[in-house]
Parts: sequence; C-alpha cells; structure tokens
Amino acid sequence: MKHVVIIGGGFAGLNVAKELGNRKEVRVTLLDKHNFHLFQPLLYQVAMAALNAGEIAYPLRMMLSKYKNVTVLKGIVKTVDPVTRTIFTDFGELSYDTLVMACGTKHHYFGHNEWEEFAPGLKTIAQAAEIRRRVMEAYENAERSLDPEEKKKLLTFVIVGGGPTGVELAGSIGEMSRHYLSKYFKNIDPTQIRIYIAHSAPRILQTFSPELSAKATEALAKLGVEVLSCCVVTKIDENGVQIGTGRIDAGTVLWAAGVRATSIGKTIGFETDRSGRIIVGQDLSVPGNPDVFIGGDQAHFELPDGSILPGLASVALQEGQAIGRNILNDIQGKPRKPFVYNDKGQMATIGKNIAIAERGNVRLSGLPAWIIWLAVHLYYLSGAKHRLFVLLQWGWSYFTFGHGARIVNKEWRFYPTVPEKAEPAEKEELVADQACLITNADPSGRGPNNPAASSRTD
Ligand SMILES: Cc1cc2nc3c(=O)[nH]c(=O)nc-3n(C[C@H](O)[C@H](O)[C@H](O)COP(=O)(O)OP(=O)(O)OC[C@H]3O[C@@H](n4cnc5c(N)ncnc54)[C@H](O)[C@@H]3O)c2cc1C
Repeated sequence: MKHVVIIGGGFAGLNVAKELGNRKEVRVTLLDKHNFHLFQPLLYQVAMAALNAGEIAYPLRMMLSKYKNVTVLKGIVKTVDPVTRTIFTDFGELSYDTLVMACGTKHHYFGHNEWEEFAPGLKTIAQAAEIRRRVMEAYENAERSLDPEEKKKLLTFVIVGGGPTGVELAGSIGEMSRHYLSKYFKNIDPTQIRIYIAHSAPRILQTFSPELSAKATEALAKLGVEVLSCCVVTKIDENGVQIGTGRIDAGTVLWAAGVRATSIGKTIGFETDRSGRIIVGQDLSVPGNPDVFIGGDQAHFELPDGSILPGLASVALQEGQAIGRNILNDIQGKPRKPFVYNDKGQMATIGKNIAIAERGNVRLSGLPAWIIWLAVHLYYLSGAKHRLFVLLQWGWSYFTFGHGARIVNKEWRFYPTVPEKAEPAEKEELVADQACLITNADPSGRGPNNPAASSRTD
C-alpha cells in the first residue's frame, strides 16, 4: 500500500484526501497545524462580527471520518527531505511514498514584519478575532472619550490594500458604522467615521474589469469609504499610517495588501517564484521530484498563455482533485494527466445587496451579483448544519442589522503574572492572592483556607 502524506487541510489538501478516500491502494495521512478546515472566503464576516468562527471552521477529523484509509494528525511540519522521503514535524518524523504539499500563504509586509503588530492581516481565526476586537474596542473607546481629537482618531479606520479582502473589510465597517452605531452608541456621530482604503495601484479590485472596479468604488463611497489610489504606505505605527509625506492618524489599521507562500518551499530548496510559490509542472508535481505534488496557493502553475493561476479557493479545490486523480493514475500504471483549470470567474461583495461578479465577458453588479455571491458561498460551505446556521444568521442580519457576534474579550486570566513594575504593596497583594490559590488547591477543592470553595462564587 502506498503511503500518501498530505500537508495542509485547506481546499487543496482536503480535496486530495477526498479523492483518495476509501481507495484500497493507498493509505493517507493528512497533517495540519490546526485540527480544522477553514472556509477563508467568509473569514471577514467573523472579523466583522457577522458570523461565529464555528460556522466557518470544521473539524478535519469529522470531515474525513467516512474514509477508512485516511488518518488526520495535528502537527506543524518544519521541513521535508525529498531524498530520504522524510517529513520533519514538531512531534517527530514521518516517511512517505508520495507527498502533497498544500500549506497556503501568509501575510507579506514587504520587509516590514514589525507592521503586523499595528496592522493585523486576515488569514486565520485568531486574526479574525483580533480584528473584531480592535474594531469593537475602537467604538467602545470612542463612545466614552471626551477628547474630540482622540475620538476622531478612534473613529478612523485605514485598510491597506484594495483587493477583495480589503474591499470586503472596508464595506463591512462602513455598513456597521451606518446601521449599528447609530442604533446602539449614544455618543458617536456616524458621520464622523472615516474609512480609507489605501491602495498602491490606480484602481481597486485590479483583477476585475475597470467597469466593475468603478462600480465597487462608487458603492463603497455610499458606505462612507474613501479610496486612496496610487498611495504607497511607507510606515505603520500605533497612531496610524504614513503615506508618502502625508499621514493619517487612525485608531485601527488593517492589512490586506499582500500575501506570500509559506516558507516551507524555500527550506526544502525547491525552485520558488518571487512570492515564494513552488514552481510546478503541468501535472502539479515538482520538476525532478515526481513524488512531490504542490497544490493551491503554494503552487506556481503556469497556464499556456503564460499567466499564473491566482490564489483562489476554486483553483485550490480543482488542483487538489487533479493531484488525487494523478496519484491514482500512478498506482494504476496510467499516464498522468495535465491539470486543466475550469475558470469559474470571480466575485467580491461590498455590502448588503451590493457585490460584483465576473465570468469571461459576463459582468454583474448590485443585487443580482450579491444573490449569486450568497448562493455560491452557501453551496461551497461544508455540511448542511453549517449552511443552515449561516443562512439563518444572514437572514436575521439582513432584516435587523443585528449581527450576533459582537462580543469581544481579550483577558482570560484572573491572576496575570505579577508585573515587574508593580508597587511593593500591590505586588504583595498579588502574590498573596496567587499563594492563596495554590494552598487551597486540595483534592476536595474545599480546603480550610478556602471559604469560597464550598459555594459557587465568581
Ligand atoms: C480573507 C480571505 C478571503 C478570501 N476570499 C476568497 C473568495 O471569496 N473566493 C476565493 O475563491 N478565494 C478566496 N480566498 C482565497 C482562498 O481562501 C485560498 O485561495 C484557499 O484557501 C487556498 O487553499 P489552500 O488549500 O492552498 O490553502 P489554505 O486554505 O490556506 O490551507 C492551508 C492549510 O495548511 C496548513 N498549514 C500551513 N502550514 C503548515 C505547516 N507548516 N504544517 C502543517 N500545516 C500547515 C494550514 O493550517 C491550513 O489548514 C480568500 C482568502 C482569504 C484569506
């Protein structure tokens, strides 16, 4: 039995596993640093408090449980030695006969990783939660601020990058400001909110036609979003962004400007492009390494016209299926088939009733595009339960603007580490508090020193 190891349970890796599922000829191990598959196209809705994380993330184990020959392991892959066919992980080594790498991308700050602290990007659930926290706290702090300058800064949002993610984030903040703030915040005037998209190119949504890009800009303007085109951000700090010689003081800056493939390709020594994507042949394997396939955002696949396939879920999904089929072709002694991409077009949503969609020469905007956007995203979500929950959430929000996930909370510890700079008296108190916790930790939980332990108190 051949052992196929898949690194990454995103759209590409998951579809390789499904293609090989319950095939007697192979044993499959899927490795991922998370124990879930994440539906990234709806991640911005988690960041904007429209959906809960559990509605777009599904345990890989459950998704693949019906395939007897597929094992899911949670772990971080450090590197791979293609000569000895060994995978090095944080929990040990694994060997393979065929390897599929589909590790996706991470944010690229163009040599300024220090900007991440001030401008989080949106790629993981943790980042979505952090963005939500920052946006919500900006509103909360503005509500109680008595200083007009501070209030102005808190109510200024800058999104760096005018691709689909930047547009979706900006549109959602615009919509939230118009409908949510006016209803629930008494000390914020929604007309004071300023939302900017800082974009280095002449127009946003560059991969769409100029006509649709213009329509999106118009729709954003109606939501109070100003697009700053041809603007290169040169500095980001805790107080805002520097654009050339100008400056925008902002309470919240979000990064949606660039991604690059995860660095694992480089560590192995495979040939990569400028974005760190591993260059693959027409069968999606690495030239000179026929037992290693690359799929999804991590692959640099060149079309016959010389263009490179973009980082889209539909590309990753189709590549995953094609890799799975070629692995089976290998086992059955059949020739591998070159990958042929079926272009399903592209879409971006701006807000309620407004989206743009493009497929070949067919271009749609406004409500028809929005309805298609909703239908496509619901269709590709995994599982009937998730589809139903998301549909209910969307339905509720549509009629009430009452998003359900606006709770933010960062602190989880009752007893944080005693700060070094604490005053002696305060330090003593904190230490005593912690000591009390330790001495009271008897097996019964009801020690003599712990009067509270016998009754439920918080
Ligand atoms: C906010 C956002 C919105 C998007 N919207 C759309 C959209 O509307 N339409 C569209 O088509 N596409 C969209 N995309 C792009 C789409 O989500 C990606 O193209 C797609 O997820 C790529 O799939 P993948 O399998 O290559 O990688 P991913 O889905 O990123 O999966 C990679 C997996 O590899 C795992 N991994 C990474 N490194 C390691 C390691 N070292 N060890 C173990 N596991 C590892 C990760 O945990 C992850 O599960 C969006 C992306 C984002 C971030």
